[in-house]
Amino acid sequence: MTAVTKLDDPFDFSAWPPTLSEEQLRVLVGNSSTYALSHGLLYLPPGYPLHSPPPQAAIHAPLSLIPSPFPRNLFGYAQRLQGIYNVLYARIAMDTPFLDEIMGAEKGVGRVDTFIGELWRGWKKLRDQEKLPQPHHLGLFRSDYLLHAPEGQQPSIKQVEFNTISISFGCLAQRVAELHRFQHAATSYFDSSPHLKRENFPKNESIAGLAKGLAAAHKAYVSQAPGASSQAKILFVVQPGERNVFDQKWLEYELLEKHSIHIVRQTSEELISSAKVDDTTSILRVSPALSPQRDIEISVVYYRSAYMPDEYPTPEHYTVRFLLESSLAIKCPTIPLQLAGGKKVQEVLGKPGIVEKFLPDFTPEQIAELRDSFMDMWGLDENIQPSDGTSDASGTSHEPPGTTKARREYTSLVLKPQREGGGNNVYKDDIPAFLDSLPAEEREAWIAMRLIEVPRGVRGWLLRAGSFDTSENDASNSAKHNAVEAEVVSELGIFGWALFGQDQPLEEQEVGWLVRTKGKDSNEGGVATGFSVLDSLILV
Ligand code: ADP
Ligand code: MG
Ligand code: MG
Repeated sequence: MTAVTKLDDPFDFSAWPPTLSEEQLRVLVGNSSTYALSHGLLYLPPGYPLHSPPPQAAIHAPLSLIPSPFPRNLFGYAQRLQGIYNVLYARIAMDTPFLDEIMGAEKGVGRVDTFIGELWRGWKKLRDQEKLPQPHHLGLFRSDYLLHAPEGQQPSIKQVEFNTISISFGCLAQRVAELHRFQHAATSYFDSSPHLKRENFPKNESIAGLAKGLAAAHKAYVSQAPGASSQAKILFVVQPGERNVFDQKWLEYELLEKHSIHIVRQTSEELISSAKVDDTTSILRVSPALSPQRDIEISVVYYRSAYMPDEYPTPEHYTVRFLLESSLAIKCPTIPLQLAGGKKVQEVLGKPGIVEKFLPDFTPEQIAELRDSFMDMWGLDENIQPSDGTSDASGTSHEPPGTTKARREYTSLVLKPQREGGGNNVYKDDIPAFLDSLPAEEREAWIAMRLIEVPRGVRGWLLRAGSFDTSENDASNSAKHNAVEAEVVSELGIFGWALFGQDQPLEEQEVGWLVRTKGKDSNEGGVATGFSVLDSLILV
């Protein structure tokens, strides 16, 4: 017999997941891994050689056995916000003076953050030389949220961050949502919870949606760029040794099958020798590795890379980024759109009047909804009052009040630099010592953010490929499953895209969602680095 959870109002997060027997869990594990392997919910195995022949084996992506509960109204709210965020970030990317001020290397964060500074200087030089012939930008975005449920308050959602470059898991997220629906069809999850009903599994069509964004940019290039060929292809700029390759492959198949668009994959390293921009037309061409004499025209440059400093190990890596930027191809993202995704920009958006300035055509209700998704943030270099209103009495008056405030309130904070891809933040107890070691001039590159108070006591079942105990005999192994129960935190990501440019119409769409679930005690949420699993939602 399994215990049956009750339909409570409000939802009792600590009652999740429903109780399942070992036998039932074994069925779910077997169904999950075989479904994932059958449906391309895959990773390349760890240690896959960098320069290798085509893969001959893959492992299923880390996944959750049972979807995570999420309040229906908050899911709808996050979806609604995406349309506003798409427009907001498009407008930020087109506001050059704003980006110069916040992220630039003369006035902004780029002065103290060398990576941001390099990107900004390269972009500035192209502006000065009038070498930016393509008016469009393409953004494939993911806005990330956590449930915020302080003691005694109704849960809300707060934005963790807004990603404007190399957003991933759009495709695998759809597959895992399909997996969870399949589990329901196959087992009804053993009637273990009244919430596990078909209508509570929201649809996720992120593959088609993200491909549509890329296809819209391709179409704009082919129909509008002077001298463009309809034979042009989309360039995926990828990382060497990428294990999350199937997430990219699903986009490739969708582009070919639904839009008849071909793609070509190259790393920055390869592009250093293969990319050329025509002096007169600015058309970007790359030569394929196998037939270097045959150049391919590129319509859209889609980065699944290029967001971390160590991806630019030599000056040539920057040079090739700027070369692509200077071409007629539409970039996803352009450098300004990448800079717009900086945490510093997110922090500045919280200041009075800023979102209002960018969104004068939105209603006060929409602006209020947007603001409700913001968590308190400030700059470490900022001249800000402590929350308790007291003046500084700690003997650290030589430092900016933003730093002093972070020092005092560290137990409820996370500090973030201008970086992407996980593993860069400083949390709670690590903050005081970190602040002691941070050179004064680097404070400007960091923001402090209030920690979102996720619901406590939610548990989940996490499944990773591999690691059976081979020391025991087959019979005893078959009686086991390798899923792990843990207290978990789930982060919701909403995907959207926008195609826009100065004096161009703006097209945008909200196109699906992602859930990543991690063990509660792991601060960072990266699936690829092994801290978390792909998950989906059960609306409650
Ligand atoms: P990155 O761009 O490297 O992904 P994030 O801002 O998303 O940086 O931070 C990484 C992770 O840290 C998030 O996925 C989340 O798990 C955690 N995190 C970030 N900000 C907060 C916050 N304000 N409250 C709680 N957790 C947070
Ligand atoms: Mg993140
Ligand atoms: Mg990010």
